[in-house]
Order: sequence, then structure tokens, then C-alpha cells
Amino acid sequence: MLSKVKYKVQFQKGLSFSQFNALYGTERQCLMALLNSRWPDGFVCRICGCRKYSAIMTRGVFQCQKCRKQTSPKAGTIFQDTKLPLTLWFQAMHVLTQGKHSISALELKRQLGVHYETAWSMKQKLMQVMLVKEEKTVIGGRIEVDDAYMGGESHEGKRGRGAAGKTPFVVAVETDPANPDCVARVMMKVLPNVSTASLKPWFEKSIAKGSLVITDGWRAYNFLGSIGLCHEAFDMPGGWRSGRHPSFRWVNTVLGNLKGNVRGVTRWVGRAHLDRYLAEFQYRFNRRFNMEAMLPRLLRAAVLTPAFPQPILKVAWMDA
Ligand SMILES: [Zn+2]
Repeated sequence: MLSKVKYKVQFQKGLSFSQFNALYGTERQCLMALLNSRWPDGFVCRICGCRKYSAIMTRGVFQCQKCRKQTSPKAGTIFQDTKLPLTLWFQAMHVLTQGKHSISALELKRQLGVHYETAWSMKQKLMQVMLVKEEKTVIGGRIEVDDAYMGGESHEGKRGRGAAGKTPFVVAVETDPANPDCVARVMMKVLPNVSTASLKPWFEKSIAKGSLVITDGWRAYNFLGSIGLCHEAFDMPGGWRSGRHPSFRWVNTVLGNLKGNVRGVTRWVGRAHLDRYLAEFQYRFNRRFNMEAMLPRLLRAAVLTPAFPQPILKVAWMDA
């Protein structure tokens, strides 16, 4: 039988295709949605302060009716310099946020009818939006923590020493001690290695002071008490056992879902992109209770995210 929480997540109302089309089916609708998201209090000309404007649809800009200065709502956002219609961007945001699982760039290519490189670049940019947004998250309360490697477990004595070709990352899952069926939010971070020097700055930034952090007692976590966190370490001699330990139930569930998602959708994630892939999983997971609002929220995050520099994309593309 499904728990109430699972039921709430799985059977909630998302944004249907017909609703999506009614709201964002035309270029003008998307441009106006972009304007409203970027300037929630209404458009103001940055030269003369006038609030009256005309939309020039052929160029996707707004022209001030007083001084005639043109303003692009895309400038300075993740959409800067895009030659693609906004309708395609909105479709991409819709398919990336409405399904239970992520979709690959190949699937995005098929759904949007664009070249693979275009779909890949759009997906990277939208994942960048999620990364920038998620980096500001702070979780607190009871936190289950584990570290893992993409492509394999970090354990069996390899932890802290690295595993060839695999990228370490840390996972922190916020749980509700009063409700064992409830996991609230998740935070993840790619690390150069699982050492105190790598872990400490991230824990200081991402976990609220006074939180209870549960680890398997790996010595790199010994700093937790020194930065205002309560540390409960489960010493597990004789190798890794937390996979079966009830105190790590949720962090193991999240790791299982994440690895299933990577295997099923992206198959392989290079080190250069892993932060963005983890951020995408995290973004969707942390907002799973309100799918209907996901697109407007992603749009708002997108207009607040600076343009993704093309040279970085090209390097990342070559790396993939
Ligand atoms: Zn003006």
C-alpha cells in the first residue's frame, strides 16, 4: 500500500500538454511569460523609466514607447544569444520538469525535433540553471550523509583513496525524525576526493548549524562537531554495512534512484558534467511535491542565471 507521502507525489496533478499549449503555445505567449518572470512588477525602460512598451516579435525585444530604446528580455539570462524560438525553450523546460525521470539529450532531440547538439546544449544550459539555484539551498534537521562514486560504490576499502576513473560525490538527505516515511530534500556535491578539506567548506555552506548529521564514521567526517553540527557516527568495522543499516535508509534510497536514473537515461556522465546532472536530479527531487509550478519556477531561475559562456560548453562537449 502506498504511504500518504508517496501517493501525494505520484498522483499529483502536473501540467498537461493541453494546459501547456494553452499557456505557452505561441512565441508571443512565451515572450510575455519571459517578461513577466524577469520583471514581476512590470517592464520599466532602463533608460527613461517609462513603463509603456511595444513587443517587436520579429526580434523578440520590447521597445520603449517614449525613448524607443529596445530591450531584450533574454540579455543577461541563460537564454542570451539563443537563436532558437522561445517556444522550443519552453517545451524543453516542460519535458525536463514534468516527467518522473529525467530525459536524455537524445530523447529531447526527438521530442523537440532539433539537432542532437542543439538538444544537448539546451539541456546543459537548463541544468546549469538548476545547479545555480540548488547551490544556494541550505538543509537542516536530521541529515543522513554518505559518499559514493559515480559508476561504483566507494567502499570496500577504496574510500578516500580514490577509484580509477570514478568521480566521488557526497549526498546529504534531510529527513523528518517525527515522520519516518518522509524525506524532505536532498543535497549533493561532486568532490575531488572524500577528505575533510573537500567536505568541510560544503557542509559549512549547505547544512544549517545545529543539525544532526549521521555518518558511517569515516574519519574525514570528524570535523562536523567543530562547525556547529551534531555528529552521530555509526562505526561499522569490517567494511561497508550502511546499505543495510536503518539509519541510512533514505540516503541509500536516494542513491539507488540516482543511479537508476543515470543508468536508464544518461548511461554515462563525464566528470565535467556530473555537478549539473546531480543538480538536475536534486532540483526535481526537491520540488516533486509541486509539479504544476515547476515550469514557472524554472523559468524564474533561468532569467536569474547569467548566460552560460559558449567556450565552456564547447570544452564540456569535447569532454563528453
Ligand atoms: Zn525609454
